This record gives sequence, C-alpha cells and structure tokens, in this order.
Amino acid sequence: MPLNPIQVEIDKHSGFCIGVINAIKTAEQWLEKEQTLYCLGDIVHNNEELQRLTQMGLRIITHEEMSRLHNVRVLIRAHGEPPETYRLAEKNRIELIDTTCQVVLQLQQNIKLSFETLADINTQILIFGKKGHAEVVGLIGQIGQKGIVISSLKDIDKIDFDKPAILYSQTTQNIEEYEALISAIQERYDKKEFPQNFKSVNTICKSVINRAKQIQEFAAHYNIIFFVSGEKSSNGLYLYNICKKVNPNTFLISKIEQLQGIVISHTDTIGICGATSTPMWLMESVKNEILIKNQNL
Ligand code: SF4
Repeated sequence: MPLNPIQVEIDKHSGFCIGVINAIKTAEQWLEKEQTLYCLGDIVHNNEELQRLTQMGLRIITHEEMSRLHNVRVLIRAHGEPPETYRLAEKNRIELIDTTCQVVLQLQQNIKLSFETLADINTQILIFGKKGHAEVVGLIGQIGQKGIVISSLKDIDKIDFDKPAILYSQTTQNIEEYEALISAIQERYDKKEFPQNFKSVNTICKSVINRAKQIQEFAAHYNIIFFVSGEKSSNGLYLYNICKKVNPNTFLISKIEQLQGIVISHTDTIGICGATSTPMWLMESVKNEILIKNQNL
C-alpha cells in the first residue's frame, strides 16, 4: 500500500529580508551587464548563495584588496560601511554601488547626530553589537571610533556611570538580551545622582523582531524543524536558538548534504525555516530532498 506523503512545509515568513533582497537584486542586475562585479565582504552570510553569485561573476574582496583596486565598481552590502571606505573609493576613483539597507543607514545617521549634538555634555555613545561585525564597524566608524561597543553584560564596566550615555543596538541583535542589558545599565545609573543620564533607543530591525515571534509559532507546529542558515549569520544563530527552545527536535543545517544521517519517519511532520540571509531556493531544495528521501523509506 502506498505511504501517505510526508508533511513538509516551508515557513512563509522565512527567507531574505528586504535589505538582503535589494543587495542581491542589485548585484544580479549588474552581473547581467558586466562579467565581474566586486563586493566588499560577503554579500550575504550564506555560502550556498555566495557560491551561486560568485559563479555569476561576483568577486568578494577585503578592504585591503579594495585599496589596491582603481577605476572599478564595488558593491557595498546591506550592512553598510564606515566613512573611510567612501574616502578610499573617491581616492581610487572606484564607483560604489551602495546597497546599505535603509534601516542601517538611518541608524548610522542617528548615531552620528547623537555624537555631534551630545558631545558637549560628554555623552558616551554605546553600541550593543558583535565586535568586528561589519555593521558595527560601519556604525562606530560614523563617530571616528569614539564610542563603546558592548557585546555582553561583562562589557558594561567600560561605561563611566558619572557621565551621560545613550545606547543603540546593532539591527540584528537579540531583543531579550538587549532588554536585559538596558536594565543592567539602568540599575547602575540608579545608584548615581542623575539616573536620567542614561537613555536607550530600540534600533533592532522590525523584520528581525517580527520573525522571532513568528518562528516560535511555526516551530511549535511540527515534530521536526530544519533550520537552514549559514554558520556566520548572527541572525541565523539567534533564530535557531529560538526554534530549539520551542522545539528541541530542531536541526541546524547549512547545506542539503547535512540531511544525511538524520532519521526521518514518514509519520513525521516537518517544518523548514531559516534566517534573513537564507535563500528560498535553498529551503525548497531541502524540502525536495526530504520528499525524495521519504519515497525511499
Ligand atoms: S535585517 Fe533589517 S536592517 Fe538588516 S538588512 Fe535586513 S532589513 Fe536591513
């Protein structure tokens, strides 16, 4: 008797966010006209998608490599860049194709404005983010490195609690950790004469916040979850941990081959989801592979 087809669904809210869609679409449009397009850093934290784009002619370069190029076009990815990159481009007559996400651009401008308007009252600019992450490098670059990057609660001792401070967050940070950090900093300011000296701004991207909520519901609906994401994606790791908490039967995979060895029964219900940097085509390939595997059970 034929088996019932296995139930496999892809989360309709997963896949590229608007910032990544724009960067990739722009790269594809240029690659239709040109054989080669340089991109400063990985355009997306997903090796499978990178491979697809490099086969089309995209060449990923470092800042060091960019400094040796002249009279070419270089794409700036959604994470954005510090002002030095724009100065270097001008010096080397490099045309920039700037796909900095609008959300990141707004955050860069706000940080710069705070720095310029609050400098005379010695306000410290705090950025909650991953040290060395491209977006954080771009943010701190707006204020000539004159801010404090806070990566975890341990870093709050770097703050001078006798001076005012304003806190911003990298757009892809974890909201729960950001709220815990805000409380911990406020607690220290509360012990001082002017507790109101501390302000925080919620600058986590709405698409990351919304996705975190949606993915919890999705993960609870299936008995196995395949979370598809590149290993370097901060957003991927964050969303994977949310899925894992709701559904311990969650597997993190970055490519189809990693399905090997994971036992699936035809009675399982399977959900596939991913990060803001996971291409839909990759989640569809994972789904097809599971369906093929099921036929052979
Ligand atoms: S996660 Fe948000 S801020 Fe980051 S690229 Fe996507 S849309 Fe832009």
